[in-house]
Amino acid sequence: MTAATRILVLNSGSSSVKYQLLDMTDASRLAVGLVERIGEPASRFTHTPLFTGGETRVRAGAVADHAAALEAVADELAADGLGLDSPELAAIGHRVVHGGLMFTAPTVVDDAVLKEIERLVPVAPLHNPANITGIRTAQQLRPDLPQVAVFDTAFHTTMPEYAARYAIDVETADAHRIRRYGFHGTSHAYVSRRTAALLGKAPADVNVIVLHLGNGASASAVAGGVCVDTSMGLTPLEGLVMGTRSGDTDPAVIFHLSRVAGMSVDEIDVLLNKKSGLVGLCGDNDMREIVRRIDEGDESAGLAFAIYVQRLKKYIGAYAAVLGRVDAVAFTAGVGENSAPVREAAVAGLELLGLAVDPGLNAVRSDEARLISPAHSRVAVAVVPTDEELEIAQQVYALVNG
Ligand code: ADP
Repeated sequence: MTAATRILVLNSGSSSVKYQLLDMTDASRLAVGLVERIGEPASRFTHTPLFTGGETRVRAGAVADHAAALEAVADELAADGLGLDSPELAAIGHRVVHGGLMFTAPTVVDDAVLKEIERLVPVAPLHNPANITGIRTAQQLRPDLPQVAVFDTAFHTTMPEYAARYAIDVETADAHRIRRYGFHGTSHAYVSRRTAALLGKAPADVNVIVLHLGNGASASAVAGGVCVDTSMGLTPLEGLVMGTRSGDTDPAVIFHLSRVAGMSVDEIDVLLNKKSGLVGLCGDNDMREIVRRIDEGDESAGLAFAIYVQRLKKYIGAYAAVLGRVDAVAFTAGVGENSAPVREAAVAGLELLGLAVDPGLNAVRSDEARLISPAHSRVAVAVVPTDEELEIAQQVYALVNG
């Protein structure tokens, strides 16, 4: 009998399913794909069998729901000889956004676990329902296989109470489970460990500030491999300026919008989550476009960039204070991995913290983890491509192999 070494990683969003099939003997990707616009008449499905170097197959047409999406994924994998019925498939790993305080590690899903993930829907209304649907559908396809939930919040459950609590009435906070949970934890875990490896050190010996700058963005302070603070809170709205989210604001902005502007809670929710951040400031949320506009002298793009960078600097400074000693600052995700202007501006003027960027190294484009600080810098500045799917697959594989 063949050893089961394959892990299917599923990331189920409200209208999409992203997946990767990995072989954990060498952590190689056998196939990757994405089903988008589920539930719409024009869904789109792309599937790439990487193990054969095969070409991407694109399918258009309606995919009614997540069950249909997963069945289509199963069909495409089967067409490549990688069917879900294969004895080589060891487990299915599911990204679950909110694990509350209970889930501090990857967890094999049973009815009680599903119930708890459901109980967290009020604090993650946009994400957990889709994650639950993904798990249920996968269970129906392979009821005998371990379905493992890997939580975005898990890496942050080590935050001390004084970092996790808001300074609001304790009884009210506890009654409604209001506290800072943090998100992007899988990425922060992977990148902080990878940064330690880049420095040739064990994670336990390194303090890292991780800046995950994608469309959503968050910073974390990681001391000796353990998260001690992070910028996202009860929801992913808090912290850095993001593509469409405001990040930190005075909470009284909300009262003001309600009382003075007459907006409903739902309208304010949409404003702060979908129409704010870079898009709200200048109409664009793609950093490439913003930098291009700045080069043309566009003032609103310039101001949006400056606000984005100011917030980043404040978090770098705050986390340097939290950590006491910083060995590295690591940039990751779409903006962090690709935008040399953001990295340069975020670190500019932070010489007092021992931070500097070498312009030549910063300009290099590469998929590899790399240092961009000058030689002999007191603090390393690194670009570390994140790999949440690999991290999920590794955690799942470790769990099912005991
Ligand atoms: P998410 O996973 O949160 O959707 P990503 O990590 O993929 O986001 O990041 C997407 C963002 O990365 C884009 O909105 C864009 O601003 C930025 N980005 C992607 N490529 C580049 C690039 N070459 N230069 C600058 N920014 C980039």
